[in-house]
Amino acid sequence: MSRRSHPLHRDAQGRLDVKSLTWTQFQAWWDAHLEPGHGRALKVYKALWQDGITAFDQVRGVAAPVLRELDALAWIAMLEPALVLRSEDGTTKFLWRLADGYTIESVLIPDGDRKRTLCVSSQVGCAMACTFCLTGDLGLKRHLKASEIANQALQVGRLLPEGERLTNLVFMGMGEPLHNLDHLTDALELCLHDEGLHFGHRKVTVSTVGLVPRMAELAARLPVNLAVSLNATTQDQRAAIMPITARHSLHELVEACRAFPLPPGKRITFEYVMFAGFNDTPDDAARLADLLRGIPAKVNLIPYNANPDRALRPPSDAVVRGFKADLHARGVSCTVRVTRGQDVSAACGQLGKAWDQAADRGWLDAARRAAGCAVASGAAAS
Ligand code: SAH
Repeated sequence: MSRRSHPLHRDAQGRLDVKSLTWTQFQAWWDAHLEPGHGRALKVYKALWQDGITAFDQVRGVAAPVLRELDALAWIAMLEPALVLRSEDGTTKFLWRLADGYTIESVLIPDGDRKRTLCVSSQVGCAMACTFCLTGDLGLKRHLKASEIANQALQVGRLLPEGERLTNLVFMGMGEPLHNLDHLTDALELCLHDEGLHFGHRKVTVSTVGLVPRMAELAARLPVNLAVSLNATTQDQRAAIMPITARHSLHELVEACRAFPLPPGKRITFEYVMFAGFNDTPDDAARLADLLRGIPAKVNLIPYNANPDRALRPPSDAVVRGFKADLHARGVSCTVRVTRGQDVSAACGQLGKAWDQAADRGWLDAARRAAGCAVASGAAAS
């Protein structure tokens, strides 16, 4: 079996989840099961990913008998929207219920008039067990399929008001994307393909704890941006908060970044979550600059988003500013990530937290309609 022939996902009637197939896989599948020719496969693929159809009889320009045949062989996966929360700052968190009852989240982050970023989940839970991250508390329940990953972008994109569209995708939601590399890269192909969701590769960023061998594998498959959650400047410091460091040392990770094949003009983003009294000293800034020397890098400082069940706290604004100035003085380009959506627990590391805030009924109903789900009248979703 090739790396791409993971078990195909079938529904109760044995029909195939066609939305987990990349265009190349879909074409091959079509040619094996349906009459080839007349660009029918492409019409169906475009209808799935560009029109967001929820039933095959919605495809235009393909004869009804072919669509009926297709319907007997395949089904159209959609995520079921369970809850939508809108933050005061416009950040919108979506809770999706999967076919097996698990739930995942995506976060829409508007920025100015045009930029609309979606933070996408790649797994139910996460196996990496970083001590500070709430998703880590869940443990890994399962990998997401390609359809479940790409549908997050398709379905949120279709809810944006006229004239707006998703511009950026960041794989920084629940899960460790590189731990689910095969499904992730299939989903990325669906996101990048011209006849699919058609995102530019410069607008797509995959974030990792540093699964070193898989970083090179990702680069070999697709040209997306890489972000690395560094979060520390010594082996012991990183190992204390990120257990993966015992498997792939800080040194190994930094060398893998140095060797990472970057197209001209691209840089690796290093995320650095700042914890008060832990990794926020001038010595840390100096070590961080030393570690990154020679790597085309930008640092994204993320003041820790505190939550009640962790003793960790973010540094003061003054300390964050000082750290940033230290990095700049050492020639490292660096930004501070503004926390978004905290009032709806949509901020980094808060996914998976209890959904105890008021829901946005209008967005939820629109999301359910777009997904082909029934819209209940009256009572709020529970
Ligand atoms: N597993 C991938 C994708 C998740 S991204 C990765 O680790 O990169 C989540 C990002 O949010 C990571 O950079 C992580 O370090 C950061 N993060 C996790 N919990 C956080 C919290 N409570 N406050 C701020 N950032 C957090």
